[in-house]
Amino acid sequence: IYGPARQNSRGVNLNINSQYRPLMDEMATFMDREYHARPLLAFDVAEDAGARHDVLCPFDLRVRVGSVQWTSRDQAARAVDAAWAAFPRWDATPVAERAAIVSRLGDLMEENLAELMTMCSREGGKLLTDGVDEIREAVDFCRYYAVRAEELFGNTTRLPGPTGESNELMMGGKGVFAAISPWNFPIAIFCGQVVAAAVAGNPVLAKPAEQTSLAANRIIELLHDAGMPRDVVQLLPGDGPTVGSVLSGDPRITGVVFTGGTDTAQIINRALAARENAPLPTLIAETGGMNAMIVDSTALPEQVVADVIQSAFQSAGQRCSALRVLYVQDDVADRVIEILKGAMDELHVGDPRHLGTDVGPVIDEDARRGLMAHIDRLKGEGRLVAETRLDPTHTANGTFVAPVAFEIDGIEALEREQFGPVLHIVRYRASEIDRVIDSINGRGYGLTFGVHSRNQTFADEIAQKIRAGNVYINRNIIGAVVGVQPFGGQGLSGTGPKAGGPHYLLRFATEKTVTENT
Ligand code: NAP
Repeated sequence: IYGPARQNSRGVNLNINSQYRPLMDEMATFMDREYHARPLLAFDVAEDAGARHDVLCPFDLRVRVGSVQWTSRDQAARAVDAAWAAFPRWDATPVAERAAIVSRLGDLMEENLAELMTMCSREGGKLLTDGVDEIREAVDFCRYYAVRAEELFGNTTRLPGPTGESNELMMGGKGVFAAISPWNFPIAIFCGQVVAAAVAGNPVLAKPAEQTSLAANRIIELLHDAGMPRDVVQLLPGDGPTVGSVLSGDPRITGVVFTGGTDTAQIINRALAARENAPLPTLIAETGGMNAMIVDSTALPEQVVADVIQSAFQSAGQRCSALRVLYVQDDVADRVIEILKGAMDELHVGDPRHLGTDVGPVIDEDARRGLMAHIDRLKGEGRLVAETRLDPTHTANGTFVAPVAFEIDGIEALEREQFGPVLHIVRYRASEIDRVIDSINGRGYGLTFGVHSRNQTFADEIAQKIRAGNVYINRNIIGAVVGVQPFGGQGLSGTGPKAGGPHYLLRFATEKTVTENT
């Protein structure tokens, strides 16, 4: 599990990281465990009802991590009945009780850290460091939303009025929410959606991504252990078009909280709008990005490259916040590219369980194939700048893509988000900066953005002009922290409100004003 001893070219031992050793020893006990996920509904579902779908390990496709039993259309419809019936009771449950259950999930995730990290790694292909970050974020969501819910839902607000009249504003849940999540944060995003909707008083039907249903299953088991009623949060593993369409087509679904691709968000939006006799729905959609960074000639090239490597290649580039297009001023472009090449030569791609690994696999063969088609096309056009070497000893059996960088003419050249370790570099002249900003804004996405400059006026001006949800100056552009950097985009990148921010729970709530003639 610790991986082979490894030194980088400067002789630094990359294996010494003793803080992880006790955790890794515990993780070893879960490494061979096979998991089974199935619908966890308000009613019993037989273990063997429905076909099983195998889950393969992305860094070694010969290993079966477990299997998933999908939810049928009929089970999904019955789950909506149960959630609908549970709404009045759950909404009337004191918020302190709801918040206590959600906080307890945070405690249970911490107690089960080693097992959850092992699942992130074996099912999701995550590095240990990414696994720690993932579970830390999920725990933060639980604690942050629990506290926020008590603040928002705990008291009614007295409002002014004429003598003889009292006015009160009170908040409650909206109804039944469907929570539809992606595979790239199988625990953090999945958990954040579910606990936010539930703590605000809404029953939840959670549909995890197919690729990471095992981790989602474990989280819902822990949530039920924490005291969440089984009819309030139900798990519906299955394929998006089947389970998703039952949910987004049902008039009793009050809202959908979705994270995933922009195209999928648009399908869900259309399905919600097409329902007849349904209340106007709430759609919270956090979607893809085409995230850029602008580097001017005053930036520190070494710092730029360190931040670019993290932003573009950490988690194998499979973060919605990851850097896709690096704009570098032409005076410093050669220097930045030279250092970048050196840094990319040092990256080690392989088994994510080994401490010396920098980049793990992409999620599955479909993802690898899609990325390779893009990479091969740009290579064919002679645009390759740098590529990390893949060592077959470590990568032959998994879905690996080597970090790669290309030069392109502009962000317009990219048709779609490339969700992997592919960096695109564009040179610009100082006189072209307004055109660069227009191109980035004109692409229509607006998730993360970075600027590197030691000219404060330049950095501030760019940050002000760019339309993006999260702007970072002189640092990497990934790893938003709950309650510190509320996260979410605009335009094609999302509807808001920001996850992990003070306004998030408001979108799951209704407000009622009660006026009384006293
Ligand atoms: P995806 O293909 O859009 O899938 C997301 C979820 O939607 C999955 O659970 C999927 O189920 C489900 N789904 C698919 N078709 C559906 C339909 N017709 N109706 C209802 N649900 C449906 O996205 P992904 O590949 O899992 O995740 C990667 C994308 O997520 C990237 O674009 C990334 O940028 C974005 N993302 C955004 C954020 C953010 O905060 N803005 C964070 C993370 C990821 P199946 O698994 O069965 O297909």
